[in-house]
Amino acid sequence: MTGPKHSCGVVGMSAAHDVVNHIHKALNIIQHRGQESAGIAAYRNGVITTVKNSGLVNVALTKESMAGLSGESGIGHVRYSQLVTKGVVNAQPISLETTHGSIAIAHNGDITNFEELKKKYLAQGWSFSTDSDSEILALLFSKNMSQTDDPIRALRMMMSEVDGAYSLTVMVNERVFGVRDPYGFRPLCLGELEEGYILVSESAALDSMKGTFIRDIMPGEIIEIMPDRFKSYPLSTNHPKAHCMFEWVYFARPDSIIDGKEVYDVRKRVGMILARESPANADIVMPVPDSGRAHALGFSIGSGLQYEEGFMKNRFVERTFILPDQKQRERAVSMKMNPIRSTVKDRRVVIVDDSIVRGTTLKKLVKILRDAGAKEVHVRVGCPPVIAPCYYGVDMRTRDQFIANSYSVSEIRDIIGADSLAYISIDGLVEAIDFPENDLCLACVNSKYPTNIPGEKHRFQSTLRTDFAQ
Ligand code: 5GP
Ligand code: MG
Repeated sequence: MTGPKHSCGVVGMSAAHDVVNHIHKALNIIQHRGQESAGIAAYRNGVITTVKNSGLVNVALTKESMAGLSGESGIGHVRYSQLVTKGVVNAQPISLETTHGSIAIAHNGDITNFEELKKKYLAQGWSFSTDSDSEILALLFSKNMSQTDDPIRALRMMMSEVDGAYSLTVMVNERVFGVRDPYGFRPLCLGELEEGYILVSESAALDSMKGTFIRDIMPGEIIEIMPDRFKSYPLSTNHPKAHCMFEWVYFARPDSIIDGKEVYDVRKRVGMILARESPANADIVMPVPDSGRAHALGFSIGSGLQYEEGFMKNRFVERTFILPDQKQRERAVSMKMNPIRSTVKDRRVVIVDDSIVRGTTLKKLVKILRDAGAKEVHVRVGCPPVIAPCYYGVDMRTRDQFIANSYSVSEIRDIIGADSLAYISIDGLVEAIDFPENDLCLACVNSKYPTNIPGEKHRFQSTLRTDFAQ
């Protein structure tokens, strides 16, 4: 697989008034889903105008850059990519002018048959202007629009050709649609604001906008929002589901509710189950801020050990995970985390994080705790060992970067210098999320892929292509 991998955030809104400020606000609230670039496309008087730039929402979308951007319909995007690509060529929304009007698309997820489709359509004379898999969605959709002139049919045709993960907001002139792939990999929900309806990756955005959560978009559903109502086009058949477990474990905000399960609640349960599965003889339990906080609280509840804050995090050192080389990542972790000595000194400490990928973070943190006088350090992890790449939008890419692929748990314990190390089991994680195992994507921890990925084990055959002709 080439091309950037990303788990991003999307917004769409239709209202009786200008929606640009609302979309800006929603993008701010889902900023954690993407810090590389941000963009808004808005429709007014026959034209879709798109503003997109590199950087955080408030840097990319300023009063100045958004001057002249307005409309009663709009979509927005925040983009996250492991590849630190400069410039805005891959930023979204992607917009196209067609004979059937203006089209704009914002995409969260990864299209797994992108290379295949790209090859096929290059041979037919198409050209691509980005290296983003999202472009194929826009091109297919506009091709289908020119054949059908019906956005719903055009989206369905597009869905029958693409495979993988996609939560989308789509605009065709003033009409705004939301689409979720039939597996439901990435979240997307519907809310009502005083001024109209909104589609957004995470429900947390609705709370701070004084909106009402209506529901999650169903896997495979297309939904059209209008200022005073919405219309649903559900999938007519049963299709296997594969909600990404990593949304609950790490990616989403704790205050979001995804497919009926509050992220905070799931993380707390993960911690409680960890305490049950792998108790530790210790004095206190502390989180790796901020990603391990709810998991650590759950561990404290489950074990009866006192919860303490043991690290202060420098919030201005960001994204250690994606820095390009190991030395830089290690240095950044030390800059980012400082111990609170009084809680650590002479104590037996349990430290809880959401996940171990390369092991960089915990190796550094265990050393920091020992230097601060901790007597023992026990590490507990809220995600089973990550052993397989994600093809659906989380930036965990190659097998050799996963420490759990090269070493056993006891070897990893020694590498990170802990007195003990335990991960939650896959069964424990499934219990915490509280979905049937078959409705979750656990590919990064069990190597069973819900869709067909060349060279990988396929969990089940997709029924999409045959069932989809409706
Ligand atoms: P490691 O240091 O083991 O390579 O990565 C684990 C740490 O990175 C955890 O603290 C976790 O919160 C964080 N993490 C896990 N997945 C991701 C990701 O996709 N992006 C970013 N930025 N951080 C991640
Ligand atoms: Mg973290």
